[in-house]
Amino acid sequence: MTLKQLSVASECAPFIKTGGLADVVGALGPALAEHGVECRVLLPLYRQIAHLASDAREVLDAGTKFGGPVRVLATEAKGVDLLLIDAPHLYDRPGQIYLNEAGVDWADNHLRFGLLSRLGAEIGQNGVDGWAPDVVHAHDWQAGLTPVFLKQTQTLAPPCVLTIHNIAFQGNFAPSTMGELGLDPAGFTREGFEYFGQISFLKGGLKAADQITTVSPTYARELMTPEFGMGLEGVLAARRADFSGILNGVDTNVWDPATDPALAKTYTSRTLARKAENKRAVLDRFGLDSDMSTPLFSVISRLTPQKGLDLALQALPGTLEKGARFALLGSGDPELERGFLDLATRFPDAVGVEIGFDEDLAHLMQAGADATLVPSRFEPCGLTQLCAMRYGTLPIVSITGGLADTVIDANEAALAAGCATGFQFAPTTVEKLSEALDRAMALYVDTKAWQKAQRNAMKHPVGWERSAERMASLYKASVEQ
Ligand code: ADP
Repeated sequence: MTLKQLSVASECAPFIKTGGLADVVGALGPALAEHGVECRVLLPLYRQIAHLASDAREVLDAGTKFGGPVRVLATEAKGVDLLLIDAPHLYDRPGQIYLNEAGVDWADNHLRFGLLSRLGAEIGQNGVDGWAPDVVHAHDWQAGLTPVFLKQTQTLAPPCVLTIHNIAFQGNFAPSTMGELGLDPAGFTREGFEYFGQISFLKGGLKAADQITTVSPTYARELMTPEFGMGLEGVLAARRADFSGILNGVDTNVWDPATDPALAKTYTSRTLARKAENKRAVLDRFGLDSDMSTPLFSVISRLTPQKGLDLALQALPGTLEKGARFALLGSGDPELERGFLDLATRFPDAVGVEIGFDEDLAHLMQAGADATLVPSRFEPCGLTQLCAMRYGTLPIVSITGGLADTVIDANEAALAAGCATGFQFAPTTVEKLSEALDRAMALYVDTKAWQKAQRNAMKHPVGWERSAERMASLYKASVEQ
């Protein structure tokens, strides 16, 4: 029997992406199809993806909502069944999807994502286009009110699974927005969506969802502690019985070094030597010294304190002085951007920095680097280390969240057993990161051991197979309850 699932999300790759959330929402549908789940993704029609409307048909006239006309359009693009919320007063604007042109949160984000949540619940409840979901899957705070609205209706509603991709983002707003959002004031309590005197989309969702998941088993455990729960640890601990960690995967068709069109040369674990052509291309692209005998480290990341890249800024000079090179692609915190640009000025032949978001360059760098740094202070799952492993690029990661769950440290025992896939360090400090970089430099000169680790990494399952099966089982259990 096919199970119908509606994903409610603010991002979906390859259409609109600021981070891993988009990759997950985009990859989940095709992966779940293999387990008898038929997905549709409800997504705001942002200006950045306006082109998707040209082949779409209207499936719902939702009337006037939150200050303007709202329609839902249906289309199929790149194998994803999309339901697009056409509400120009909320989504047709410049800037980024969460931030205005000055880099500040849009002042009406509560309405922009309140509408997403509300339509998620309405379509969950009533269906659309002759299609009604058996289960609703809401993602992050932007869809956090979906289960709240579903519970607010008096009629029987489909079960709702809520996934926490990053608890740092909670969607907290002034209580005066309650009326505008159409929330029942009776829910403004500790048992509902009230959170320290504010409305919290995420907390409301965590209380109302039938099942809660997050993106790795370690992050699930961490979230129930004050160190990582960011105030919501108690809420999650109270829901322990309905809370699980299901590891993210990457789309192994999109991330495949054997076929990737963004590479200078494609390769497999059997033709690893060809990977060097990509290193040359990256060194060339960043104008770096073309010596192939020392490692090239990379970072592809949002530049935020979460990612621990301030530690990398401090640790890297020592490594560069030992002959390594470093290339970074990312954007975000202006101070971090400046820090890396300064590093490139100090080490012009050894450091290249590109500030921005560039999908093709990200692919080329995953193929061209020898090792990639993910020294996060917390990391719900992390996708960059998974992509890196698939490309035979060894990840250097802190031991937290999904980084703890996915990388096997190249310690003596793992090297002897031949199962290492990267380097882990803890605690997340400059000293420990420097040690890990030194270990990587040392292993790199042992070509045989390095190549063995590369092959292990490439063999490591980073796709959705196992997790999609777990997710499908979770849906089925929720529907049967
Ligand atoms: P997060 O969701 O916290 O940003 P993840 O590691 O889960 O971190 O996912 C990040 C995704 O975004 C990865 O697919 C990574 O390759 C990609 N990414 C991050 N920064 C950039 C960038 N500047 N250009 C291209 N891709 C990027």
